[in-house]
Amino acid sequence: AAMRKARIKRTKTVCTYCGVGCSFEVWTKGREILKIEPSEEAPVNGISTCVKGKWGWDFVNSDKRLTKPLIRKGEEFVEATWEEALKLIAEKLTGIKEEHGAHSIGYIASSKCSNEENYLFQKFVRSIMGTNNVDNCSRYCQSPATAGLLRTVGIGGDAGTIKDIAASELVMIIGANPAESHPVLATRIKRSHKLHGQKLMVVDLRKNELAERADLHVHPKPGSDLIWLSAVTKYILDQGWEDKAFLEKRVNGFEEYRSSLDKFTLEYAEEKTGLSKETLIQMATMIHEAKSVCALWAMGVTQHMGATDTSTAISNLLLVTGNYGRTGTGAYPLRGHNNVQGACDFGTMPAWMPGYEPVQDKEVRERYEKAWGVKLPEEPGLDNHQMVEGIHKGKLKALYLFGEDMSLVDSNSNFVDAGFEKLEFFVVQDIFFSKTAQFADVVLPAAPSLEKDGTFVNTERRIQRFYKVLEPLGQSKPDWEIFQELANIMGANWNYTHPGEIMKEAASLAKIFAGVSYERLEGWNSQLWPVAADGTDSPLLYEERFAFPDGKAKLVVVEWTEPFKPGEEFDLHLNNGRLLEHFHEGNMTYRSEGLTHKVPHPWVEVSPELARERELEDGALVGLTSPYGHVEVRVIVTDRVKGNELYLTMNTSEDIEAVNKLTSSYHDITTHTPAYKEMDVRMEVLETS
Ligand code: SF4
Repeated sequence: AAMRKARIKRTKTVCTYCGVGCSFEVWTKGREILKIEPSEEAPVNGISTCVKGKWGWDFVNSDKRLTKPLIRKGEEFVEATWEEALKLIAEKLTGIKEEHGAHSIGYIASSKCSNEENYLFQKFVRSIMGTNNVDNCSRYCQSPATAGLLRTVGIGGDAGTIKDIAASELVMIIGANPAESHPVLATRIKRSHKLHGQKLMVVDLRKNELAERADLHVHPKPGSDLIWLSAVTKYILDQGWEDKAFLEKRVNGFEEYRSSLDKFTLEYAEEKTGLSKETLIQMATMIHEAKSVCALWAMGVTQHMGATDTSTAISNLLLVTGNYGRTGTGAYPLRGHNNVQGACDFGTMPAWMPGYEPVQDKEVRERYEKAWGVKLPEEPGLDNHQMVEGIHKGKLKALYLFGEDMSLVDSNSNFVDAGFEKLEFFVVQDIFFSKTAQFADVVLPAAPSLEKDGTFVNTERRIQRFYKVLEPLGQSKPDWEIFQELANIMGANWNYTHPGEIMKEAASLAKIFAGVSYERLEGWNSQLWPVAADGTDSPLLYEERFAFPDGKAKLVVVEWTEPFKPGEEFDLHLNNGRLLEHFHEGNMTYRSEGLTHKVPHPWVEVSPELARERELEDGALVGLTSPYGHVEVRVIVTDRVKGNELYLTMNTSEDIEAVNKLTSSYHDITTHTPAYKEMDVRMEVLETS
């Protein structure tokens, strides 16, 4: 037994399946993953994990993993050496840059990859390729929340920690389903609600698990959140329930904001949201009576055309009621991917250098120019959405994408795919031959988190290390090594031998990471940014100051944007979202046997009323058609959804991809986040059961 034990290796890692950021040990023997072992010392989850963290790792040994670079020859892909593949990329990118200019190439980073990889990628894009055309998938989810918070409180991240949420007297959850999308965080809320008298208000089209448990579940009309938020805030002000001392001392813009609310009467809100006056008053009263209120939100808010203003309205409500800067208060946009926060924090965004310093700020650019020995581009680059448009307009000629299956996850996927076919040159770097890879000219095999060192930032702004558990499979390589090799072929002289050195460089340049280091992050340790040079971190923001020069927050006037409606013939509203067993589009989880066995395919949820009307039963096959595409899926009849509202799970399987065949290219007017949640469809019955 002693011998057997000796061969077992235990390595700390951080889960890659959601923004909660659970950490645990992986027990391995050779390449075999024996088990996942959580620890009391894990700062976020302690001894908890969810089903994905526990069982979602088979994919690392999948025989479908990419293990060699591939180069397209006509319709075929042929295996190539790293040298051949990287040389070809260097030649093509250089040629296209010379012929069409630096801004004719786009770069898509990955929220599944590490901070160091994202940092190095944006360094490659900015310092070697000479453009700010770099973005990541936060554009698909939380960019509007970031924008709403940057406007009102100055920092685009959660106001406190998951422990702070658990300590709140009232948790408001708006357009989010933490029980499936952020399971361990949801467990904390369930416990506080059950054992410590925490009140729970859920605003959602779907009666999800937390909505079932909530003290109040509210179901407004799709796309009307800004209206009830503003009406509830106005009602609070009309009653004199605002936190006057807080507003006086810590907030700018009150008078203008207050008069902008005049139109948001209870009558107006009742008409537009479908919520009764009594419900709106009940919401206001719950907020008034709680000593601490925090608001959690996700894609149900942010994937709309008016998403930035709705996120702003949430922050406005918290400011008016003095709910910032104390435990249990504040704004919590829930980050979806494990490192969507970190990808943004470390600068893979078209307008921001690492640490949210604007690319247009001369002083900021000069700091990086001095360190990197180059001249940097001055204007913000294109975001994901603008890149796709740019391809269609013939302005963007090449794309380099890593760790992102854009063809599956971007909205209106038929339009995206048609764009990929027009590219002169396309590099895809991934762990699997993704759907997007089919359009590539060169496919590079990357290594997943278990095969490299690095750090992630979770939804709380907590930076945590993960350690290499296994060697990269075949010839696959960590993404940061690939960027370094390519950069050096293109004339750079980068000599990073470990991701810790990349973090050291980022910390020396980005103010919010000043005191971040691998030594301080050793083992189970973590740091929540901003981190001062002496290593002091910031679990709770805004205790003394908001992140503006005068230290005061801002109330910002918002406008409602009417949701997109494709036309009368599309008579059913289509909502969509995650489910517990699969991560996002399912690229990794449907290659993990246990999870796929449990949930093999996506499905559509139909209300009992609609099922009766259309004579449908569980298991019926329906065709869903939008102006952009058509899919066929099986039905589950459930009272989780109401009336003419459908809910389609957003995972895919080997043979069915669904949601984004139907979604449009309409987007948040401020950040260009696709309005995935604004779609109407028509439904035909193909088989009744
Ligand atoms: Fe992983 Fe999120 Fe589950 Fe934690 S809650 S184990 S981070 S998927």
